[in-house]
Amino acid sequence: MKYDYLIVGQGLAGSIMAYQLIKRGKSIAIIDEGNPSSSSKVAAGLINPLTGPRMLHTWRAEQLFPYLKEFYREVEKKVNAKFFTDKTIYRPFRTIKEMNDWDGRDVLPKYQNSIKQICDAGTHANHINDEFGGVEVNGFVLDTSVFLEAMRNYFMEKCAFFTQRFDELALKVSDTSVIYNKLQADNIIICSGYQIGNSALFGWLPMAPVKGEMLVIKMEKQFETIYNRSCFIIPLGKGLYKAGSTYNRYDLTDTPTTEGKNEICQKLDALLNMKYEVVGHRAGVRPGTAPRRPLMGFHPEHPQVSVFNGLGTKGISLAPFFSNQFANCLIDGNNLDEEVDIKKYYSLYFNQHSQKN
Ligand SMILES: Cc1cc2nc3c(=O)[nH]c(=O)nc-3n(C[C@H](O)[C@H](O)[C@H](O)COP(=O)(O)OP(=O)(O)OC[C@H]3O[C@@H](n4cnc5c(N)ncnc54)[C@H](O)[C@@H]3O)c2cc1C
Repeated sequence: MKYDYLIVGQGLAGSIMAYQLIKRGKSIAIIDEGNPSSSSKVAAGLINPLTGPRMLHTWRAEQLFPYLKEFYREVEKKVNAKFFTDKTIYRPFRTIKEMNDWDGRDVLPKYQNSIKQICDAGTHANHINDEFGGVEVNGFVLDTSVFLEAMRNYFMEKCAFFTQRFDELALKVSDTSVIYNKLQADNIIICSGYQIGNSALFGWLPMAPVKGEMLVIKMEKQFETIYNRSCFIIPLGKGLYKAGSTYNRYDLTDTPTTEGKNEICQKLDALLNMKYEVVGHRAGVRPGTAPRRPLMGFHPEHPQVSVFNGLGTKGISLAPFFSNQFANCLIDGNNLDEEVDIKKYYSLYFNQHSQKN
């Protein structure tokens, strides 16, 4: 059988891209090597419309957030699993100045969907150091383990699924199709996360991978709110919480380190006012990019070979909206957003190739 699309990678990028194409009636084959420390499997799952030290709206929040809410709820129904939850994220102020700067911002129209309320000092003092009060944000959490497992089961039913390593050297690209061992498809989409850096087809993209470490901690007191200042604490239930994370551009292994653990514990000690025990520790590599934007589009010389990658630190928020845009581009020929289209980096590819020749 010849498939419409062969997709490499079943992380967030590959899963969501495959879902969008199946929804549009396309036949799909997926190859994933099942990396247990993929960025998607290690991810905390946080979806926060406000970001950075100044708590401004995240890039494209006004487009991403309405779409992602509908999208994850639709997928939950389709695959009959529960992985997307509304959650309050509390961001305590660091200083009196920050508190004063926020005075009245919650009633500005542009913040009304993202901000639940501004809290007085001490509102959350049962759990954290809350000297100056803070902002309660309307956020969400995606349980990525449940999501990926449910998507895998769905793909097993709806398409061909192969648990194996994809070896790019075995890929044959002709003018009209791609052939990989016994598989034939009209198109291939590479969604291999940070490992795209090793690809002969797409290794020229401006990737800037970032390792992240994350702890699972246990506490006696139980709470439902997510706390987020320098580090996040996400309740998992039964007294367990995810806490993290770190950002390291130099060590790109998926090995948890003592330095990483100490860094997170230091931040936790400054935020929490109760004791905790570390019961788990994981690490993964985020597919970050130099321009800090997702990267998608077609290979400069082979239009049937494309890439959906570069989801960086916010893949859960970015993937639904941009996979929709990319699917419309693949099927209807719609233009991609200039900020994410890899076209503007084609000169990197041609420079690299002219140097080799
Ligand atoms: C500690 C940490 C915390 C994070 N927290 C958040 C968060 O709270 N919110 C958020 O939005 N984002 C978060 N992220 C980022 C998020 O994980 C990424 O944006 C997203 O998961 C990237 O998905 P991806 O599918 O592009 O890559 P990956 O998850 O890396 O998936 C790539 C897939 O391709 C497969 N693969 C690769 N090469 C091959 C090959 N040659 N053959 C076969 N299969 C292959 C792998 O097995 C894997 O399944 C976090 C990341 C880390 C590390």
